[in-house]
Amino acid sequence: MRLIKQYLDAFLHLWYPHICLSCGTDQLRKKNVLCNQCIDSLPFTEFENDQENPIQKIFWGRVSFTFANTLLFFTKESIVQLLITELKYHQNKKAGWMLGRLMGNYIQEKMSQQNIDFLIPIPITPFKKKKRNYNQAILLCEGIQSITGIPILEDVLLKPYSSDSQTHKDRIKRMETIGQSFVVEQAWKLSNKHILLIDDVLTTGATIEAAASILDGYDLKKISVFTAAYTI
Ligand SMILES: [Zn+2]
Repeated sequence: MRLIKQYLDAFLHLWYPHICLSCGTDQLRKKNVLCNQCIDSLPFTEFENDQENPIQKIFWGRVSFTFANTLLFFTKESIVQLLITELKYHQNKKAGWMLGRLMGNYIQEKMSQQNIDFLIPIPITPFKKKKRNYNQAILLCEGIQSITGIPILEDVLLKPYSSDSQTHKDRIKRMETIGQSFVVEQAWKLSNKHILLIDDVLTTGATIEAAASILDGYDLKKISVFTAAYTI
């Protein structure tokens, strides 16, 4: 039986080679898209060691997060860009789950005292979801949950329609537009909870600010944010 399985695996490998996205080795865990060596070489921000965490700084005077951080630096033509592209445009769910597990390890090691009650993925519109088949932030949450066990709230923060057609240059106007496109349902679930907002890439912070601002109007205990990558 074992021999048959080995034979079958070898056969499948010929047709669907399971190789590291970055270096091409086939020495990697089945559920990963990068080998351990490439995972170790990822550009982790380690912002938690900075006296002035740049992610907290982005939101100064805008939203008061209990904790705000990002796992990796996002730079052009890097492994991180490759992972995010795979996740968002190439239907590569494994890339999302793997990134989520890395985020989960971080939460377990560095945020265990934060006592997070729920993960809330930044939602996408039903139109985008239909096009992509999934919300990438939910895959990240699922990866995090597999490590930490923290439950995911998918049905509280929703984005029923798009704000993409608006092309306001002014950030405040843009934020207002994005803010108006989020809605909160079943708000009672948030009562006295510490929630952690999860998203893939943080750029200006406008989307996260808009989501946090609308959630802040409810009876939360604390709100924090953690993203997979940060554009520099
Ligand atoms: Zn590799």
